Amino acid sequence: MSTSILSVKDLSVGFHTYRGDIKAVRGVTFGVDEGEIVGIVGESGCGKSVTAHAVMGLLPKENSFISGGSISFMHNDITTLSEEAMENIRGSAISMIFQDPMTSLNPVLTIGQQMTEGVKGLTGQEAYEKALALLERVGIANPRERMKDYPHQFSGGMRQRVMIAMALMGNPRLLFADEPTTALDVTIQAQILALLDELRHDMKMSIVLVSHDLGVIARICDRVNVMYAGRIVEQGTVAEIFHNPQHPYTKGLLNSLPRMDMSLDEELPVIDGQPPDLLYDITGCSFVSRCSCAMQVCTDTKPVEQSVSDSHKAECWLLAKNRSKEAV
Ligand code: SF4
Repeated sequence: MSTSILSVKDLSVGFHTYRGDIKAVRGVTFGVDEGEIVGIVGESGCGKSVTAHAVMGLLPKENSFISGGSISFMHNDITTLSEEAMENIRGSAISMIFQDPMTSLNPVLTIGQQMTEGVKGLTGQEAYEKALALLERVGIANPRERMKDYPHQFSGGMRQRVMIAMALMGNPRLLFADEPTTALDVTIQAQILALLDELRHDMKMSIVLVSHDLGVIARICDRVNVMYAGRIVEQGTVAEIFHNPQHPYTKGLLNSLPRMDMSLDEELPVIDGQPPDLLYDITGCSFVSRCSCAMQVCTDTKPVEQSVSDSHKAECWLLAKNRSKEAV
């Protein structure tokens, strides 16, 4: 039986702004089991990174707030933990790798200094040995020498490997990877994804992969959550989402991917329109203004989650309509 590592229930996150409160995440529910890679995919501003930062306790203190829901890590509610308690978890049991290692690494400290500073429960020598072993594990050649180098002396792909090694220093049970390959070319991207996949097996670690790139998600995730306007609008296994998408937004995202059989002059389909302004409450379906299948009920009433299978769910009135037709 699979063991739950992370359970996020009905999480809502907002930001105070000069225009009013932005409701960036609006009742998100998803889970991560031991050893699995779960993807969160959606376009910029859909709330995927805010969700990840909320779990990590990394939301900006000045203007953010969690307005509802719970985050349970290894069966303990971490939503109400003090900053000090959260700091003990962050960087050890839960860790994170960020999109751009060049801005996440300190340019004036060597890689060795950055990897070994503040490691909990290890002496300086133990931290040094562990950093060496991890750099070697993530594919950095000659790690003893490279520990003395500064971030600018590494290529983009190597810097991302260093970031991964750094995130592993605390033996995390859960690793958040926020757009970890966006700044890399496709060959290096494939290598980094293969490395993450190997590491989850070797280290019995779970990974939440946040990305706008469906290709990245398809490559290594077991399950996928599709986010739109602060909600998860569809969730399922990779096979269910990619081979049997149900939500018009998921279908639109998949349609907009380039295909091998396309001619060079063929234009990629796009999802017309813009996501709703998250400053305001949304009465019906958040996708209604962009959806070619929209019905009156979609404007009037928020869609209720419909199950396609035990693992596959989508928030769309179309599913309910098709069901009622089948029932007739
Ligand atoms: Fe489209 Fe209606 Fe489904 Fe929303 S609920 S995605 S508007 S069909």
